[in-house]
Amino acid sequence: MSHDSRSDKPATQVVQAGRRPEWTAGIVNPPVWRASTILYDSVAHLRDSAGRDTHHRLFYGRRGTPTQWSLADALTELEPGAEGTFLYPSGVAAIAAALLAILSRGDELLLVDSAYDPTRGLATGLLKRFGITTRFYDPMIGAGIADLIGPNTRAIFMESPGSLTFEVQDILAIVAVAKAHGIATLLDNTWATPLLLPAIAFGIDYTILACTKYIVGHSDVMLGSVTAGPDRFAALRDTSFQLGQHVSPDDAWLGSRGLRTMAIRLKQHGESALKIAHWLNGRPEVATVLHPALPDCPGHDVFVRDFRGPAGLFSFVLNGGDEAARAALIDGLAHFGIGYSWGGYESLAIPVDPHRHRSVTRRDQAGPMIRLQIGLEDADDLIADLDRGLARFAAARG
Ligand SMILES: *Cc1c(COP(=O)(O)O)cnc(C)c1O
Repeated sequence: MSHDSRSDKPATQVVQAGRRPEWTAGIVNPPVWRASTILYDSVAHLRDSAGRDTHHRLFYGRRGTPTQWSLADALTELEPGAEGTFLYPSGVAAIAAALLAILSRGDELLLVDSAYDPTRGLATGLLKRFGITTRFYDPMIGAGIADLIGPNTRAIFMESPGSLTFEVQDILAIVAVAKAHGIATLLDNTWATPLLLPAIAFGIDYTILACTKYIVGHSDVMLGSVTAGPDRFAALRDTSFQLGQHVSPDDAWLGSRGLRTMAIRLKQHGESALKIAHWLNGRPEVATVLHPALPDCPGHDVFVRDFRGPAGLFSFVLNGGDEAARAALIDGLAHFGIGYSWGGYESLAIPVDPHRHRSVTRRDQAGPMIRLQIGLEDADDLIADLDRGLARFAAARG
């Protein structure tokens, strides 16, 4: 495939990305290359090899093989303007590598208050232990982030939409402020993926995916990635190598397999989620539906401006009721599993209590909250299931 024949259409991109002819050698998918030792022809070859860049070149197993490079390359190809991608054994490992690539003792991190809870834990745990301070900020801050920037501020971490509460951040406004101050920007883009929000083109320095979710898409592999713009690629590579990060070829291969169908899966996840979100929105047992594509969600206007479509994960707030009434709804569901993670083909429902994971933004809620991952089942089956669930909730609420 020559470079200039590349499509900008997501469905075509995910089918073609990363399948370099030298890696596929005549078959469709790059095979699983398992390696620790790489053998050299001679001492001279070994010495020469050690002195050169190891990017996409067999050197030692930890630096990867075509199986991992193919997935990394594919993720880079989905991000116009990106320099390269590194893979990690989980989304959290990817977040850690990206932050450690930028931050040093004495630096300050601005972290969105609606970040994934383990991201908060990394900031208040390991980063704090190494002399890096964190200030949490309101996801709706926009250009107001300028007021929080001090002499030691080195990085702004965004996650949009936010975990559990789905506030959409004004990435363009925040990136503009960061660039004016020479501050690095990071985005946890797991919800949208580059298909719904090409983050590097928005000016983000490091875009992070928990590939565990939509890339893998089948709830059976842990995987993370960081894709870097040109200015910060070298720092990410050095830090990742120093940390010894590596992903098994089998897991990378499953990531590539998942990626091939991601455009069509994401379309269906989004379409079904919207249908269900609108249905829930019309129900008297439901106070608020927090899906960025619905007007009640903070940042909905920014979502309409920036995103190419909806994804399948959202929350809703019940009208009154307690823990037991919420459990009555969830426990009896036939088509929704009860479990963490999301992005697989199957639907999930969990109770969420965002106030436990916030320090500067606390929004009053009419009742308990539930997060839904809408899978690839028939949406009407899911609606009928939730309908019975709301009846159980109403009966338990009294
Ligand atoms: C799941 C998730 C992560 C972490 O990914 P793991 O692969 O589970 O470590 C990070 N960010 C977001 C938004 C997530 O949903």
